[in-house]
Amino acid sequence: MNYYVGIDLGGTFIKGGAVRRNGKIIKFDYVPTRVSSGVQVVLSDIEALIEKLIGGLKGRLMGIGIGVPGIVDGKKETVVLAPNLNWSNVPVTKRLEEKFGCPVTISNDANVAGLGEAKFGSAKKYKTSIFLTLGTGIGSAIIINGKLFEGNASAGAEIGHMIIQKGGHPCACGNRGCFETYASATALVRDTVEAMENDKSSKMWDDVGSTDKVNGKTAFAHYHDDATAKKVVDNYLENLATGVINIANIFRPEAIILGGGLSKEGAFLSESVQKLLDEHIYAVDLGPKVEVMLASVKEAGVVGAASLNM
Ligand code: BGC
Repeated sequence: MNYYVGIDLGGTFIKGGAVRRNGKIIKFDYVPTRVSSGVQVVLSDIEALIEKLIGGLKGRLMGIGIGVPGIVDGKKETVVLAPNLNWSNVPVTKRLEEKFGCPVTISNDANVAGLGEAKFGSAKKYKTSIFLTLGTGIGSAIIINGKLFEGNASAGAEIGHMIIQKGGHPCACGNRGCFETYASATALVRDTVEAMENDKSSKMWDDVGSTDKVNGKTAFAHYHDDATAKKVVDNYLENLATGVINIANIFRPEAIILGGGLSKEGAFLSESVQKLLDEHIYAVDLGPKVEVMLASVKEAGVVGAASLNM
């Protein structure tokens, strides 16, 4: 049976899957993204991952899709800018097409994951939805009347770079106060570390020992038994809700879907954000409700990337 390869190139991991036309992943693997080793190393790692995925598979490889954490050119061949990888103007598709002999398409990682959700998951029943990935940065996909809205030359739909705090935290994009510097996993880790350093008796220390082991789960894990952890999480939820309220007021979509690593916090995350949204959305009781939901496609970035060539 024919299959497609989808690659989700993130700031932390490169994940890949061989995927059937119905969205089912038949083989999956991942490697760390060696960002500091430079562009060529990361591209070779992607090639090696693809080789591993297709090795031994029966059927024909119909296409390779790659979601990249940044903006791509209008032809979908070159990564124009990916701040979290330190990439600018990196051609990607040609060398892979030559090597694997099939069409290769790139697109923004979040657009691709949003597409995966819209085709195979939570957003399937909605015409208008906004998808957010909460990971190294914050990516987004805007789906209006069932279609991706990407902005001119595919350079828009960058909700992670909506400024929510004038003069706020510096962002990899060069601005300050971007939504992702307050509500990404990276932001949560930064705030968790800072809070731990100010409270040496926090229970969070028992789990991690040293601050370099802190991740997006550290504070959530102690929400109910550590005041410092609760404060970090409550502040994080307010930051996330600030962006979500802005999105809801601009698009009034049927749903806002939360994906990415932090969405593993589950119903606690979506229900907390829903509560804040319901309290602060414009025309609170008069407009239609905006549902806050969790992404439901396992590895939506991989499946959505594979679906770029379906
Ligand atoms: C980039 C987006 C990307 C997101 C998630 C942001 O910093 O600007 O294009 O989708 O991170 O990786």
